[in-house]
Amino acid sequence: MADYYHVLGIAKDASQDEIKKAYRKAALKHHPDKNPGDPEAEKKFKEISEAYEVLSDEKKRQIYDQYGADALKGAAGMGGPGGPGGGFSTMEEALRTFMGAFGGGGQDTIFDSFFGFNPEAAESGTQGASKKMNLTITLEEAARGVEKEASLSNYASCETCNGSGAASSSSLKKCNRCQGRGQIHQSRGFFTMATVCPQCEGRGKMITDPCKGCHGAGKVKTKQKIQIKIPPGIDSGMRLRMPGYGDAGDHGGPAGDLYVHIMVEPHKIFHRDGDDLLIELPVSFVEAALGCKKEIPKLLDGLCRIQIPEGTQSGKILRVKNEGIANVHGQGKGDLLVKITVETPVDLSEKQKEILREFAEHEKEHNSPRKKSFFDKIKVFFSKD
Ligand SMILES: [Zn+2]
Ligand SMILES: [Zn+2]
Repeated sequence: MADYYHVLGIAKDASQDEIKKAYRKAALKHHPDKNPGDPEAEKKFKEISEAYEVLSDEKKRQIYDQYGADALKGAAGMGGPGGPGGGFSTMEEALRTFMGAFGGGGQDTIFDSFFGFNPEAAESGTQGASKKMNLTITLEEAARGVEKEASLSNYASCETCNGSGAASSSSLKKCNRCQGRGQIHQSRGFFTMATVCPQCEGRGKMITDPCKGCHGAGKVKTKQKIQIKIPPGIDSGMRLRMPGYGDAGDHGGPAGDLYVHIMVEPHKIFHRDGDDLLIELPVSFVEAALGCKKEIPKLLDGLCRIQIPEGTQSGKILRVKNEGIANVHGQGKGDLLVKITVETPVDLSEKQKEILREFAEHEKEHNSPRKKSFFDKIKVFFSKD
C-alpha cells in the first residue's frame, strides 16, 4: 500500500493548501480525459484521488497518520466494499473526489482547463455575425476583374464607448453572479456543467451606466460604402470572403466576415465553360466547302483571325489557344472555342438554283461522306430481314 504523502509528493506536515495544490497538479496529469484508454494513468488517478480523499479530510488524515490506511477501511465516504485496503475500486469514486475538489466551486481553474472553458473568453468576447451579399457582374467584368462599390448595412463598433457599451470605464462593474467569469458551474451527478451566466450573458461585467450612443449595446447600425475587389476569372457561384466586414463583435470580440456571392450575367454572344469561351460562327455552305478566313470578335478587345479549312462540317469546333478567360487562381488562360454552323442557303434566285442543280449533276458519292455512310448503314439494316 503506497504512502499517501508519497503518492502526492508532499511532506508529512503539508498544509491543506499544499495538499490541494499537489492533487491538482497530479490530477491534471493523470486525468482520464487526458489519457484515454491508458490503464497506468487510470491507476495513478485512482491512487492520487484516494490519497487526496483521505488527506484533505483532517479527521481521516489523523486516523491515517496514526493507524494507517487499513484503519480507514469501510469508513464513511471511503471506497467501495471490494476496494483493496479501503482504496478506490472504481473510477467513478476517483472522479467524484476530483469533482468535489475542483468541480462546483467556480474558484479553481483546473476544471476549466479540462473542459475547454477559457476564463479569458469572458474578456475577449465573441465574434460578430457574418454577412452575405449577392453581386451580379457582366462576363466582361468577370474576365477583366473589376472593383465594385456596394452599400453595406451592418453593426459597427460604437465609437463613443469603443464597443464597451458603458458610458465610462467606471460604469463597468464585475458581475456578482459569476464573479466576472461569464460562466457558472452547475453540478449534475459526477459532472459539472459550465453554462453562460444568465445575469451578464457571458460578459462577466455589468453596465451601471450605459453609453448614450448605443444604449449599452456596444455597437450601432451603420450604412457604409465599400469597395469590392473582384479578381479576373471569377465565375458564377464563387464567393469572396472579406474578413472583418461583417457585424462588429460582442464585448470587444472580432468582427464577422462578409461573403460576396458572385453571379455572372449571361452574354449575348459568348458562352462560358469554365475558363473557356464558346462562340458560334455561322458560315455559308460555300465557305464551309471551299474553306475561308474569318475574323471574330474577342470578348474584351480586338479581333482574332481564324482559318476555316476546306470541307468543314457543321458543328465542328475550332480552338483558339489562350483567348478564353484568365484562370481565377492564376493558372493560365482558357481557350476560345469557335463552333462552326453551316447555313443552308435560303431565298435563292432562279440563276442560283440553276447553278446548284448543275452542281448536283456533278456531285459524287464521296463528296458527302456522312450521307454515304448513313445510307450504307440503312442498307445493312434492311438487308437483315
Ligand atoms: Zn456606445
Ligand atoms: Zn455574470
